[in-house]
Amino acid sequence: MGMPSPAEPAAPALVSVHGGHSGEFCSHARDRLEDVIAAYAQRGFAWVAITEHMPAWRDALVPAEERAAGLDAEAMAERFRRYFARARELEVAWSDRLRVFVGFESEADAGALEAAEAWTRELRPDCVVGSVHSVHDIPIDVSPALFERAVVRAGGLEALYCAYFDLQYEMLERLRPAVVGHFDLVRLLDSGHRDRLALPSVRRRIERNLDCIASQRAILDVNLRAFAKGQSEPFPSRSVLALAHVRGVRVAPGDDSHGMDDVGRDYARGIRMLAELGFPTRWPVPGSD
Ligand SMILES: [Zn+2]
Ligand SMILES: [Zn+2]
Repeated sequence: MGMPSPAEPAAPALVSVHGGHSGEFCSHARDRLEDVIAAYAQRGFAWVAITEHMPAWRDALVPAEERAAGLDAEAMAERFRRYFARARELEVAWSDRLRVFVGFESEADAGALEAAEAWTRELRPDCVVGSVHSVHDIPIDVSPALFERAVVRAGGLEALYCAYFDLQYEMLERLRPAVVGHFDLVRLLDSGHRDRLALPSVRRRIERNLDCIASQRAILDVNLRAFAKGQSEPFPSRSVLALAHVRGVRVAPGDDSHGMDDVGRDYARGIRMLAELGFPTRWPVPGSD
C-alpha cells in the first residue's frame, strides 16, 4: 500500500447566477428559452438563474430593438408574463438534471424600482438580479454615441460614474436583490476606466455599495460576458473584486447568456481570477444566507 494521495480539490461546480436571456423573450438575445436551458444541462451545470430583463414600464423607454419587433410597453409586459410561465414549466421539466431559479433582471431608473417591486409581488421570482443599464434614462452599455450622450447629460465622466453608483445604491436599498448584476458596467465604453474607478469620489461610492451588498448578503455576479465584449477583466473589475473580498462579499459566476452559444463562455478564465483573489469556489445559491 502506498502513501494515500492528497485529496484532489473538487473542481468548482458550473453555475450561473445571471443568464438565460433568450430570443424568445428578448429581441437582443437569440434562441428559444428551452434550448438555452437544455444547453446548461448538456454542459453539466449544477444550477442556473434564468433572469430575463424586466419590460420597459413606459413606451418612451421601449428599447429600439423591441420597437423594431413591434412591441410597446404593454406588449413587453405581456411577453414577460409568458416568459415567467414558460420558465416555470422548464424548471419542472429539467428538475432531475438541472436546478433552475426563475427570476428577472431589474433596472434602476426613475420609475423602474416601483415597476420591479410590482413584478416581484405579481410573479414571485426566486431571485432578482439588480442591475443598472442607464443613467438619466440613457443606456450606458449600448453604443459609444449613447454613452457620450449620458456623459454630457451627467456633466462629465466622473459625474456619470458617481450618478451610476448612486442609482445602484438606491436600487440596492429599495429592492434588496439576491444578486447584483455586472457591478461596474458603467466602465464598458470608457477606455480610461481604471483611472475613473480609482477617483476618490467614485471609490467612496464603490465601497459604500459593497458594504451594503455585504450587509444584505447579496451575491455579486462575476459577469463573464465582459470578456466577450472585449474587456480584459469581468464586471466587476479586479480592483473592485479585491475590495469586495476584504468585506466578505459573496460572489458567483454569471455568464449573462443571451443564447445557447454563450452558455459557460469564458468560465475558466473568470474562475481563475476569483481563485487568485482568494474567493471560495463553493458558490452560494441565490436566496441563501
Ligand atoms: Zn440583455
Ligand atoms: Zn444586464
